[in-house]
Amino acid sequence: MAARVGAMTRLPCARWWGTAGLGPLAACRRWAGSSADTVYDVVVSGGGLVGAAMACALGHDIHFRDKKILLLEAGPKKVLEKLSDTYSNRVSSISPGSATLLSSLGAWDHICNMRCKAFRRMQVWDSCSEALIMFDRDNLDDMGYIVENDIIMHALTKQLEAVADRVKVLYRSKAVGYAWPDPFSMADSSPWVTITLGDGSTLQTKLLIGADGHNSGVRQAAGIQNVSWTYDQSAVVATLHLSEATENNVAWQRFLPSGPIALLPLSDTLSSLVWSTSHDHAAELVSMDEEEFVDAINSAFWSDANHTDFVDSASTMLNYVVSLLKPTKVSARQLPPSIAKVDAKSRTLFPLGLGHAAEYVRPRVALIGDAAHRVHPLAGQGVNMGFGDISSLLRHLSTAAFNGKDLDNGLCQQVSAPLLETVWMTKNI
Ligand SMILES: Cc1cc2nc3c(=O)[nH]c(=O)nc-3n(C[C@H](O)[C@H](O)[C@H](O)COP(=O)(O)OP(=O)(O)OC[C@H]3O[C@@H](n4cnc5c(N)ncnc54)[C@H](O)[C@@H]3O)c2cc1C
Repeated sequence: MAARVGAMTRLPCARWWGTAGLGPLAACRRWAGSSADTVYDVVVSGGGLVGAAMACALGHDIHFRDKKILLLEAGPKKVLEKLSDTYSNRVSSISPGSATLLSSLGAWDHICNMRCKAFRRMQVWDSCSEALIMFDRDNLDDMGYIVENDIIMHALTKQLEAVADRVKVLYRSKAVGYAWPDPFSMADSSPWVTITLGDGSTLQTKLLIGADGHNSGVRQAAGIQNVSWTYDQSAVVATLHLSEATENNVAWQRFLPSGPIALLPLSDTLSSLVWSTSHDHAAELVSMDEEEFVDAINSAFWSDANHTDFVDSASTMLNYVVSLLKPTKVSARQLPPSIAKVDAKSRTLFPLGLGHAAEYVRPRVALIGDAAHRVHPLAGQGVNMGFGDISSLLRHLSTAAFNGKDLDNGLCQQVSAPLLETVWMTKNI
């Protein structure tokens, strides 16, 4: 562990990055005797799905074999001793691209050996009209996979253990302060980012990667602006039992006036619910009795009560005109499965919000995952975008390491653009 450094002199604030938006974690300090600190090549702050995968990716990269990497996670280590028969209510829709990344880290095999469900079709439709869009793979390739978050985390933890000689992981270790190098450095000032942990110990890193979620302390301490707003919605999640066993390889999503409701396949008889709606309605859904809750879900998927004659005739006419102008193969509308039962205690809600950092990289710091961008779960892209960040950042860091360059070298020029590209591309899917 890092040695604690006693003498710390606070200086007037950083000229380099300015003072605007500096959060409570930010401090501008010059260190006396900082040589006592452990210096890492990369510290990843935040070991959620994205931070753990980032540390794992660095640990598995051949060009990083002689680098010192540290993953800091405020929470405890998460290993599934035994796979529970009950599915977790927190699941993610994982894109084939993300599966490829997880596969390159050796984590996908663990996931497949535990459990995940592939889907081959996606039907998204409206509750107020006949509007419908269908995505399917003609060649029956998998369109994506529904995986429990705990299982992804378990797989990443296993793979982090496999590279324990290169990647040190500190659980229950919260970073409480970050100090940036002074650009006009003096002989006794540290050229690296200094991190203070909750127990008062300090360490240093040549590159800090902020993967600490949507309330990112790294982002705040760096003074990076964040555009954010709440959707005034919460997502109700639950594990649902289907009325009868089916192939269950379709992801369903219906747009209701109050927000989208989605049903994601888990097995032949089980699906996971993500119902985004107003906070009040979400609280009501979570507290109603099980039978009432199941009726509400079936009605949300099946009822045509929101249809109006006017919208129906207008959309029929529009479809007719469009089919004349651009004849296309029309996929048949499928009916979603009906729900029989909800798993006891699987119902809970999550308030939803959007956030987007104005910059993803600054000298000696990069933001990934929800620390950089937080999106509505309706497209199932949050963690996939985070995994996209990892691929982008890893490409740059691996090349820099191979060429024997400072990892920070050209980071701002080379990484910002691809990262932004990834975000906008996935937003436009
Ligand atoms: C209902 C719902 C459904 C979703 N469904 C999907 C989906 O189907 N597909 C998809 O791609 N995405 C989905 N998402 C989004 C996805 O869950 C998130 O984008 C993803 O979990 C973000 O991961 P992260 O690692 O960036 O952040 P987080 O999960 O927030 O992890 C941050 C980690 O950093 C740690 N941390 C924080 N501060 C510190 C500190 N100071 N020091 C040390 N550690 C710290 C925390 O303990 C935490 O472990 C969904 C989200 C919701 C709410």
